[in-house]
Amino acid sequence: MFALQSDRVALRFGDRALTHAELAGCAGALAQRLSGLPRVAVWATPTIETCVAVVAALLAGVPAVPLNPKVGERELAHIVADSAPALVLAAPGVELPPGLASVPRLDVTPDGTSDAAFADPGDEAPALIVYTSGTTGSPKGVVLPRRSIVSTLDAVAEAWEWTSDDVLVHALPLFHVHGLILGVLGPLRRGGTLHHLGRFSTAQVVEALDGDGTMMFGVPTMYHRIAEEVGSAPALAAALGKARLLVSGSAALPVRDHERIAAATGQRVVERYGMTETLMNTSVRADGDRRPGAVGVPLPGVEVRLVDDAGATLDEAGAIGEIQVRGPNLFTEYLNRPDATAEAFADGWFRTGDVGTRDEDGYFRIVGRKATDIIKSGGYKIGAGEIENTLLEHPSVKEVAVTGEPDDDLGERIVAWVVPSGPEPAAGELADHVARLLTPHKRPRVVRFVESLPRNDMGKVMKRALGT
Ligand code: ATP
Ligand code: MG
Repeated sequence: MFALQSDRVALRFGDRALTHAELAGCAGALAQRLSGLPRVAVWATPTIETCVAVVAALLAGVPAVPLNPKVGERELAHIVADSAPALVLAAPGVELPPGLASVPRLDVTPDGTSDAAFADPGDEAPALIVYTSGTTGSPKGVVLPRRSIVSTLDAVAEAWEWTSDDVLVHALPLFHVHGLILGVLGPLRRGGTLHHLGRFSTAQVVEALDGDGTMMFGVPTMYHRIAEEVGSAPALAAALGKARLLVSGSAALPVRDHERIAAATGQRVVERYGMTETLMNTSVRADGDRRPGAVGVPLPGVEVRLVDDAGATLDEAGAIGEIQVRGPNLFTEYLNRPDATAEAFADGWFRTGDVGTRDEDGYFRIVGRKATDIIKSGGYKIGAGEIENTLLEHPSVKEVAVTGEPDDDLGERIVAWVVPSGPEPAAGELADHVARLLTPHKRPRVVRFVESLPRNDMGKVMKRALGT
């Protein structure tokens, strides 16, 4: 899976670093202790130890379950019962919650050496079990074989021209696909470097990109912070401007933030679209046209189709339908959920539950999630994202989420949850702004001003939690 031989730095966290060769040694030593176990959990703090633990499990061929260190009691109980780990791997000194008391602990230390060889468990062997974000329901354990990890990492490397010379900078959590698979295993597979910032701050982004950082990964909430500051922060603008590639994913990057960053830095953020079950599906390529609001083209080896409610494939440009995906990037199954697994597939295609469109030249745009972002109002199907992007163009709107709510006349009415950027504007003014720029039936019927939006650890808006 990884070459792990060179003296190049593989992992840098603050003032701690490991070369690829050192990582091979300490992960190999740990792997010998894991060998033969059915499954292990990793208490996934943003540390070198988490990376060593995951690499060791991969070397030993033992499926690893990364755990969110901020996980709540109920969710942890579900994950422990569902995945039944034989051990939990953690950094020394880190306190584990009572919910893990029944699972033996093994401390991970990034030292030790070993050149033991391990049997190749095969491409279809489960490598990681990653729980989904739980944005739309309770988290499901996604069983990812080595094949899907390797194919996705090689596909994005091709699209992003990612090499061993790249130093990837990010501050993402290590218990989801974005931070762990792309953000840790990506640089390891390339033979390059990960520079993890610990906590996200624009000051650290400047320092890292002014240093040897060449590319950065982030979620939209991070790019939003950058967009808010970058117009009046010349050092930040210069550092971002000279990066080779800035990549955003996990949720839609608002068009306004994309444009503000481009105006200040001359650099357009590249957006990619993926999910736990499929890893990466589409991306804007490094040499491609970086269009705001678009997630690019299918990655090499990945097939993407749009399907209407009756199951017919939509080939016309501009048609709107459910996004379905097929390819070597797909997961095997949801752990212990044969029902959910069967439901998720249609003739071998994975039903993403996301709705999108394709332009004339093959660029995809995400309209939103079927479950929460498609509002059926007055006989129309309306995507929340377009209204959100339009409201963000209004100077009084800082953040916004659009939802649908039952309505006797319309079926559903459009509700805008707005975090104002200053004094609250009149609701009618915001509704008129949408009706003027889009069409009258996309006008929010209700505007609710809130102090903040409920977001999960990836910064995704939890629309389920709005209005309850
Ligand atoms: P759950 O499946 O538990 O409800 P989740 O779908 O949020 O949670 P993830 O697998 O982490 O869990 O997220 C994948 C989803 O994130 C995609 O299905 C899509 O809705 C959204 N997403 C990812 N990248 C993008 C993007 N670039 N633009 C818009 N949406 C995106
Ligand atoms: Mg999902």
